[in-house]
Amino acid sequence: MNYVSTRGSTPAASLSDAIAAGLAPDGGLYVPQSLPRLVPEDFAGLESLSEIATRLLTPFFAGDALESELLSICAEAFTFPAPLRSLATPNDFVLELFHGPTAAFKDFGARFLAACMRRIPRLGEQPLTILVATSGDTGAAVGAAFAGLPGFRVAILYPDGRVSPRQAHQLGCFGGNVHALRVDGSFDDCQRMVKQALSDASLRERNPLGSANSISLGRLLPQMAYYAQAALTHHCAHGAALNFVVPTGNLGNAFAGMLARAAGLPIGRIALATNANRTLPDFFYGEDYQPRDSIATLANAMDVGAPSNFERLRWLYPDTDALRREFAVETIDDAAIRTTIGDRHTRFDEVFCPHTATAIRMLETLRTKGTDGAWCVVATAHPAKFEGIVEPLIGQPVPVPPALAELLARPSHSQSLANDYAALRGFLESDAPKQV
Ligand SMILES: *Cc1c(COP(=O)(O)O)cnc(C)c1O
Repeated sequence: MNYVSTRGSTPAASLSDAIAAGLAPDGGLYVPQSLPRLVPEDFAGLESLSEIATRLLTPFFAGDALESELLSICAEAFTFPAPLRSLATPNDFVLELFHGPTAAFKDFGARFLAACMRRIPRLGEQPLTILVATSGDTGAAVGAAFAGLPGFRVAILYPDGRVSPRQAHQLGCFGGNVHALRVDGSFDDCQRMVKQALSDASLRERNPLGSANSISLGRLLPQMAYYAQAALTHHCAHGAALNFVVPTGNLGNAFAGMLARAAGLPIGRIALATNANRTLPDFFYGEDYQPRDSIATLANAMDVGAPSNFERLRWLYPDTDALRREFAVETIDDAAIRTTIGDRHTRFDEVFCPHTATAIRMLETLRTKGTDGAWCVVATAHPAKFEGIVEPLIGQPVPVPPALAELLARPSHSQSLANDYAALRGFLESDAPKQV
């Protein structure tokens, strides 16, 4: 399988090359040249996430240098489960994606990316710097996945004051080859600076750079696996497709679900829940696509004004009307996030993080409108990561899962970086990569 750019003006690349490059040379995003057609029977007898991922990703790795490594890459990346549980309300489910080291779904993608990247041969002896802009969770997942990995250093840019205290602590707790840089600006500013560095040829000549944002195929592809496992489990038990509501920011997670469905998995509808950042809802309600500055909300990992995977969505659905018909989208403001967290706890003893709460709220709306079938909310982070928001709403402490407790017990250090590309360039050039 080769990969082409959403902008169509670069030659097809192998999977390894596409993963190593991040962004395609024409500025577009890599997408598979064709889509495999799988059927549920292809997964007969497979149960673990790692087995299902290996089967699902085999056609996507076919012909690549990493093909023979796929089994060990999956075994290395999928070391924690993605349980599918019933919610208190009938026919409603939750897919818990927060059992990894940093308690958010991004651990799946980041660990898989690291497992791929360390197997991709590179020219020269220079360590590779992974540059990552984060609205909260990506940076920690990437830091955890690459911490101590020989031949890599990580520079994480995050918007100062816009991540939760526990998120900030996580970002700075890895040390060694992982640098946490707090930027006086928004997530979009961080993303702009990272994009500018990645397209700075003279910088890259002296400092090999790689990206780990949700545009990376190495993060996108493995995320199909948990949709596949949940949908197959449901299909096996009930003979029906499972529908999903996905808390959405950059569209990386939701797009993986769409790709899994396009590859033949028994996935029904996919609904997108956003916070008060309205770029996607406004487009789906009929306006022209209009990227804008992000605004800060309680669901900070979804504070995105210019969803980076939008180009992939357009590639999968080139017809605008068909695209608008295909996906329900709802914007959930902070007041509704608060009410949802409080109500679900009072009524059902269920506790959700602010991101997951947007999807819970959207599912409640769908049910009120009479939507039937089995629906699954994708739980993207553990509520203990956002205790400052959740605990006052539920009036009690949220127990911290052991992996998160371990990170929070470490010392944490970050450095400030001006909201200005020259500052990032200066950091990357002056902070000579440690020879590891
Ligand atoms: C990153 C993140 C999201 C948004 O995911 P996208 O792939 O950017 O759409 C939602 N919830 C949490 C907890 C996240 O960390």
